[in-house]
Amino acid sequence: MAWATEHHSALADVLGARRTINAAVASELAFMDEYVRSRTAGTSPWGTGVTEKDMYSSAICEVAAALSSTFAAIDNKLQMWRQLRPLVRQGFVDGVLDLERVRTIHDHLLQARPETVVVLEVEILKAAQEMAPGALGREIDRLLTEADADWDRAVRKRAARTEKRIRLRRRARGLSSLTTLMTDGEADEQLSRIDAEVTRLHPEDPRSDDQRRGDAQTALMRGETLLCECATCQVVREDGTDPAPENPAHGDSTTETSGPTDTISDTTRGTSTDSSGLIPLERELPTSRPPDAPPADTTEPATATPSRPGGGTLIERWRAIVGDDPIGVHALYPDGHGGMKIPPPGALSYTPGRALAAKVRAENPYCLHPGCNVPSERCDLDHIVEFDRHRPEKGGWTILTNIGPRCRLHHNLKTRKLWRTELLPEGVLHIVDPLGNHYFTPPSR
Ligand SMILES: [Zn+2]
Ligand SMILES: [Zn+2]
Repeated sequence: MAWATEHHSALADVLGARRTINAAVASELAFMDEYVRSRTAGTSPWGTGVTEKDMYSSAICEVAAALSSTFAAIDNKLQMWRQLRPLVRQGFVDGVLDLERVRTIHDHLLQARPETVVVLEVEILKAAQEMAPGALGREIDRLLTEADADWDRAVRKRAARTEKRIRLRRRARGLSSLTTLMTDGEADEQLSRIDAEVTRLHPEDPRSDDQRRGDAQTALMRGETLLCECATCQVVREDGTDPAPENPAHGDSTTETSGPTDTISDTTRGTSTDSSGLIPLERELPTSRPPDAPPADTTEPATATPSRPGGGTLIERWRAIVGDDPIGVHALYPDGHGGMKIPPPGALSYTPGRALAAKVRAENPYCLHPGCNVPSERCDLDHIVEFDRHRPEKGGWTILTNIGPRCRLHHNLKTRKLWRTELLPEGVLHIVDPLGNHYFTPPSR
């Protein structure tokens, strides 16, 4: 039975590799923790004004910038690592538990009573080694309810009140995923609404099940009815014929799919994204294809590729030019006056006017900090060269080239003089962290 042993050892190799990966992920978190602790420890060399919290934020941002990640992602991981139960952490370090399971255990135990957790820990670890993350989560929930039903009920009630949220993620090919954290009951409710829409379609509708459900979600979002796309229904709608012939198949919902609804759906389609008010990011991203461009017309050689003197990406080029020079050497407008001699109206008042604020936010959809994805609508407007309250004409002016959006966190790091920024020619931003690492971000458009 040589083949059996062969397969057996090949599978052991897979498991061995997995253990190595798990242990490596655990040690990455341990190193991050060590780094942040060492950066936060002791008195800060920057003197007054810089708190331990500022140093913590800066340290997380330093790690995030080095890994091209975000504050939230790194902070999340580190907080989880610091709160891990000793046995769970040991399993992680030994490579027996992977990050997904560790996170599952952590998330499900987050609000549990400490005494309960101590009692359940061994059992949960056993479950973790033989269950997929989804099943593991349900098992932990079951154990928690069994151990302390009242506490568990209170925890769930509070979570439903405080933890709901929406997250937007830009995906490929012009698609986004919008994740909603809601109660189990609400999720089931929405799914059954979607199913109710889908079941009213004729079997001849050409869309796949996924496509139908996706379109049903969009229709529900707009307060519309999912329209059947089978040939018969299409013809009926184009003719504007009385919808009566559809009656047998569509039952009582026919009135909702009649002519007037079509008119409403056409008018709402254009404006619904602007008026939703949910996600203030609905602006064309620089990478999106113009609407009139053909989808796959790439047969012709790319003759239109613009060549820049020096070649390479903007960032590569500026990294080479700047080298280790400090902030100020290469600034486009070192005085923050935008190349002007006389301050234009509003330039000497600290707060930007409404029109300037709108323009700055339109040109910079996100916080200027590298990799930060806080939309500029939720950001402070910050002076790149600092405004001088006593002598406004000497300091950086309140003008387009000297104002940028910065989220609270990154604004604070700059105010504390931990991170520094300058605007380089060609619209490239040059950012230096407290340790002297240089980062560059290209202009957003
Ligand atoms: Zn139909
Ligand atoms: Zn930010």
